[in-house]
Amino acid sequence: MPQTTLSPEAETPAAETQAAVTHPAASSGPASSGPVPFESWGRYPTYKAKVVPLNWQGDFPGVAAGIHNGALPVGMGRSYGDVCLLKDGNLLLTTGMNRLLDFDPATGVLTAEAGITLAQILDFAVPRGFFLPVTPGTKYVTLGGAIANDIHGKNHELAGSFGNHVPCFELVRSDGSRRLCSATENPDWFAATIGGMGLTGLITWAQLRLKPIVSRMIDYEGIQFHGIDEFLVLKDQYKHVEYTVAWVDCVSTGRNFARGIFMAGNNAKVPGPLTRTPEPKLSLPFDLPGFLLNRTTVSMFNTVFFHKQIKAHVKTPQDYEPFFYPLDKVLHWNRGYGKNGLLQFQYAIPWEHAKEGTIAILQEIARSGLASFLAVLKTFGDIPSLGMMSFPLAGIMFALDFPIKANISFPLMQRLGDMTREYGGRLYSAKDACMTPEQFKAFYPQWEQFARYRDPLITSSYWERVTGDRSTL
Ligand SMILES: Cc1cc2nc3c(=O)[nH]c(=O)nc-3n(C[C@H](O)[C@H](O)[C@H](O)COP(=O)(O)OP(=O)(O)OC[C@H]3O[C@@H](n4cnc5c(N)ncnc54)[C@H](O)[C@@H]3O)c2cc1C
Repeated sequence: MPQTTLSPEAETPAAETQAAVTHPAASSGPASSGPVPFESWGRYPTYKAKVVPLNWQGDFPGVAAGIHNGALPVGMGRSYGDVCLLKDGNLLLTTGMNRLLDFDPATGVLTAEAGITLAQILDFAVPRGFFLPVTPGTKYVTLGGAIANDIHGKNHELAGSFGNHVPCFELVRSDGSRRLCSATENPDWFAATIGGMGLTGLITWAQLRLKPIVSRMIDYEGIQFHGIDEFLVLKDQYKHVEYTVAWVDCVSTGRNFARGIFMAGNNAKVPGPLTRTPEPKLSLPFDLPGFLLNRTTVSMFNTVFFHKQIKAHVKTPQDYEPFFYPLDKVLHWNRGYGKNGLLQFQYAIPWEHAKEGTIAILQEIARSGLASFLAVLKTFGDIPSLGMMSFPLAGIMFALDFPIKANISFPLMQRLGDMTREYGGRLYSAKDACMTPEQFKAFYPQWEQFARYRDPLITSSYWERVTGDRSTL
C-alpha cells in the first residue's frame, strides 16, 4: 500500500501520544545491540530479546536476514503473558510503522500501517465524527496487535470482535511473499492471521471500518446488582444497549457474594463535543510494594467502589474516556502490583454451563484468599469470529487480575484453568501466562490445522510453552 494521503504527525499529535505511552523497550533507532528485557503488561514472565524496530513496510524480511532464534512481531506489549515475548529471540517492534494512509469519510474505512495505536486512530477519527467499531479496555494497543489477538470490547453481542470490522490487510512472510488477505482473497490466510497471535507473518497495513458518532459522550447507566442471577436479568434487559460490562466484587462472600455494578451505554444520539482527548498526566513512576494489595485493602476498595454510586441506579452522560478506558488515566498502573507482576485469568464459558461455571469459579477465587479488584464480567454474543484461533464464544466472559504470590497464584491458575475446561470454556491467549499444553489443546483443538500457517521464522514463548514447538529457521 503506497504511503501517501495522511500522516498522523501532520494531522494529530500522534507522535506525542506515542512518546507518552510507548513501550519502555521501544525506539525508532537501530536494533538493540544485544538482548534487553522486554515486558508484557503483566510483567511476568520477563525475557530478554533483541528488539529490532521496523519503520517501513518494506523493512521485513530484510532486517531479519542472518538473525538467530526466531522472530516475533510486537506492538505495544499490552498483552499480559508471553504471547508477545520471545525468550532470547528477536522482537520486530512495529510501533515506528504507524502512518495513516487513507480515509474515506463516505464509508468510514481507514487504512493505516499496523503499528499505529488505537489512541492515534481516535485522535484522528473523533474530531471527524468517527469511533472505533470495537475497543478493548485500553487504547494503547496497535492495529496489528488488535487483529493478531482478535480483541473484543464491551459490544461483542452486537458487533462481534475486532476482525469482523477489518475488510483486508497485507501479510508479509519471511520468504518475502506479500499477500493481500480478505474474506475473498487468500481467505484461509485471513482466517489464520485474525487471532493468529503474530505467528503467520507480519501485518504491514490494514483497513478498519470505523463507526459514525455525533458526540464523544456516552449515555451511561450504572446499576448495582447482587449475584449472577441479577447480572443475567440485567444483561437481558439491556440487550439492545450497545456497550455492557460489569465490575464484580470477587472478595466478598455471604450475602455480598458476586455483588457488582452493571454498566451500560450507547454513543450519545444528541450532537455534542467531538474534541480530541488531552494527554494523560498521571503515571505510576515506580513499583509499589506487592504487600499493599492484600485481602483487607482490596476488600475495603471493593466496598468503596460498590458504593461509589450512592443510588442503586444512576443515569448520566459520561465522556468516552472514563467509560472505555478508566485504567488509561494512570500510565503504568501495572506497577501497582509490585515488581513480581500480575497474572490475568480470563475465560469464556458457553451458555450451556456459563452460570454454574461462573458461580463455581467465583467461589473458588473467594476461597483462595487471593485478592483482586480488577474483575470484569461480560457476555459474548453469537456473531462468529472470523479468526481460526479467536477467543470469543457465545456465553459469559470473566477476567480478573491477581498479584503474583508464588505458592498460591500458580496452583490457583492451574485449578481455574481446569475448571474452565470442565465447564466447556476456554482461556484467552492474549492474557495468559499459565495455560498448560493439555489445557491449550483442549481449548483450541484446531491448533494443528492453524500450525500449518505459522511462518517458519516466527514463533513466541507462548507458542513454545503450549505446543512444545520452538522450531524456527
Ligand atoms: C488494561 C488492559 C485492558 C485490556 N482490555 C482488553 C479487552 O477488553 N479485550 C481484549 O480483547 N483485550 C484486552 N486487552 C489486551 C490487549 O487488547 C491485547 O493484548 C492486544 O493484542 C495488545 O496489542 P499490542 O499492540 O500491545 O500487541 P502486543 O501485546 O505487542 O502483541 C500482541 C500479539 O499481536 C502480535 N502482533 C503485534 N503486531 C503485529 C503485526 N503487525 N503483525 C502480526 N502480528 C502482530 C504479536 O506477535 C502478539 O502475538 C487489554 C490489555 C490491557 C493492558
